[in-house]
Amino acid sequence: MLKVDLHCHSNVSDGVLAPAAVAQHARKAGVDVWALTDHDEVGGIPAARVAAQEQGMRFVTGVEISITWANETVHIVGLQIDEKNAGLVNGLARTRSGRDNRGREIANQLAKVGVMGAYEGALKYVGNPDLMSRTHFARYLVEIGACANIPDVFKKYLSEGKPGYVPHCWASLADSVNWIRGAGGVAVIAHPGRYKFSQLAQGQLFDEFKQLGGTAIEVVTGSHTPEQYVVYAQLANSYGFLASRGTDFHAPGESRVDFALLPPLPASVTPVWHDWF
Ligand code: AMP
Ligand code: MN
Ligand code: MN
Ligand code: MN
Repeated sequence: MLKVDLHCHSNVSDGVLAPAAVAQHARKAGVDVWALTDHDEVGGIPAARVAAQEQGMRFVTGVEISITWANETVHIVGLQIDEKNAGLVNGLARTRSGRDNRGREIANQLAKVGVMGAYEGALKYVGNPDLMSRTHFARYLVEIGACANIPDVFKKYLSEGKPGYVPHCWASLADSVNWIRGAGGVAVIAHPGRYKFSQLAQGQLFDEFKQLGGTAIEVVTGSHTPEQYVVYAQLANSYGFLASRGTDFHAPGESRVDFALLPPLPASVTPVWHDWF
């Protein structure tokens, strides 16, 4: 069976390894079909494609778009996109554009609770000046000993309601799906089990996504528990969505699940890649 992994990050967004190093890391863990899905950015794709080919992996173009839906941040993965498509490229540039100011504001708020120098501190971890992420702040807060690990930083400082949380308005659901489809790709709701929606709101998200032309949801991801694999497999089938699978790998030793450890999709679902090769 092919090992397919369609969600991970390089240092072009908030991962730690360069795109080629992520490709090598994935291949060593047995991945046969691989997509790099950096946040709001396709700049890593050319290097990732070359490295995947050198490693003998089938490469799938990807991106993970930040959107705001019902006042919550949701992530929409685009796969099989033409990364040069102007509508997509321009949309992503707009989506990225507020990140630097948001980073400065996060640092201002952290300073009020005694964490000084966080903008400069986070910047040391930023691989792409257009893409300052909360993850970079989290790495800095671990570095200075404010927390023991990254999940703790999110719990204590960077999640909604915590001192370093700065609300941000990302792209709309419709824009993200239209950019992806306009670039010839398929849209996938990333890690649906991670959002704090009621069942009703989640159903509305799925309905709206379906109406807009969304294709799939992630079923097996590093962000889901094994119980959630079962729940989202059933939901994929009941909504008529295809199912996707990916670690959401960010860094060796940091991510909850590394490439070798993620289980396959349940047999009951239709993989999003069923008609790709
Ligand atoms: P941003 O796009 O700057 O808001 O950052 C979002 C990123 O933060 C996600 O893609 C994850 O990599 C990371 N993240 C969010 N919540 C958590 C969490 N609870 N634990 C670890 N990482 C998280
Ligand atoms: Mn991330
Ligand atoms: Mn995500
Ligand atoms: Mn991700």
